[in-house]
Amino acid sequence: MTRLELQNLNKVYSPQSIPVKNLSLSVEEGEFLTLLGPSGCGKSTILRLIAGLESPTAGQIRIGDREVSKLRAGDRNIAMVFQSYALYPHMTVYENIASGLKLRKMPAREIQQRVTEVSWVLGLEEFLQRKPGQLSGGQRQRVAVGRALVRRPDVFLLDEPLSNLDALLRERVRAELKQLFESQRSPVVYVTHDQTEAMTLSTKVAVLSNGFLQQLDSPQQIYNYPINQFVASFVGSPQMNLIPVVCQGQYALLGTSKIPLPAMTMIPPQVILGIRPEQVRLASEGQPTTVQGQVFLVENLGMHNLLSVRVAGSPGETSAAPIMLRALLPADQPWRESVSLVLPPEAIHWFDGQTGGRLGDGSS
Ligand code: ADP
Ligand code: MG
Repeated sequence: MTRLELQNLNKVYSPQSIPVKNLSLSVEEGEFLTLLGPSGCGKSTILRLIAGLESPTAGQIRIGDREVSKLRAGDRNIAMVFQSYALYPHMTVYENIASGLKLRKMPAREIQQRVTEVSWVLGLEEFLQRKPGQLSGGQRQRVAVGRALVRRPDVFLLDEPLSNLDALLRERVRAELKQLFESQRSPVVYVTHDQTEAMTLSTKVAVLSNGFLQQLDSPQQIYNYPINQFVASFVGSPQMNLIPVVCQGQYALLGTSKIPLPAMTMIPPQVILGIRPEQVRLASEGQPTTVQGQVFLVENLGMHNLLSVRVAGSPGETSAAPIMLRALLPADQPWRESVSLVLPPEAIHWFDGQTGGRLGDGSS
């Protein structure tokens, strides 16, 4: 059984550049883990450490029962797919896919067998004699994946493999990758800054910021229970509304209404109310409204309209800035400029404005 495990992994380039800070996580057989975070948060460095292209400042990397952090890259049985594809331009598709096996001195017959099998899976049979320059972006990407698959590695690493493709192609290749990796057992670690890729491909997502692991969970759990304000704002599109609110007793004041706070031992000095635009609803006739406001911007997204609403009459206003709330409504739902909105209590997230940590759910 192969299982990838990182224990207290650290990478220090200089006191100013510490892209991996005490990272511990494991990826089981059959799992697809995505490292998700903004550019510069340390994702590629983590992959390079696993692959053996960098050595850790501290910590351990285990594959199965082997501790591999002292092993050379070539001895780790890991395959990596890069954003740039890194194909050999002078070699044919066949030679590109076969190159890693040739280096390992595999018998020619077995190489041919494996390349044939992989090129069939990837639909590359008719391109085997072409050079990379004669292929489309999507085909080149498939060759790069083929070169990894043919090795039958213990672990697959992929670093932003879709980011060089245009939007339409990216969606198609994303679906292909999902199918492909569902049918094999080696752990996969996939890097992206694109939350849609992370949510659709993964069995587990690790959200990273500034070298620190923020949350490691299933995509559903990360969407439904973001552990802090960073995760809440990074995952979900359109972005979650995050509104600083004034509290009074056990209530938060928003517009002209009072919203009950979750049970907490102590209410922090700054509280943020979070709600996803897709969970804000228009109040129907006679339904108690949570907030009223004026629509000042409408973005037509095809299936939906994204309304930006200025919340009316904010009690206890401490700043001059008006409160904005975005609501995602089905395109066929009519609305007036003056809207009444419902914020379902079960859809509200609460965060500590100073630490960013999640409040309520017995977590504080
Ligand atoms: P990501 O892949 O998430 O965009 P990287 O892992 O490439 O981020 O980089 C994380 C941080 O580490 C960045 O601030 C980057 O400048 C820094 N870094 C990467 N490689 C080196 C290096 N060889 N020397 C110094 N700093 C580096
Ligand atoms: Mg990177």
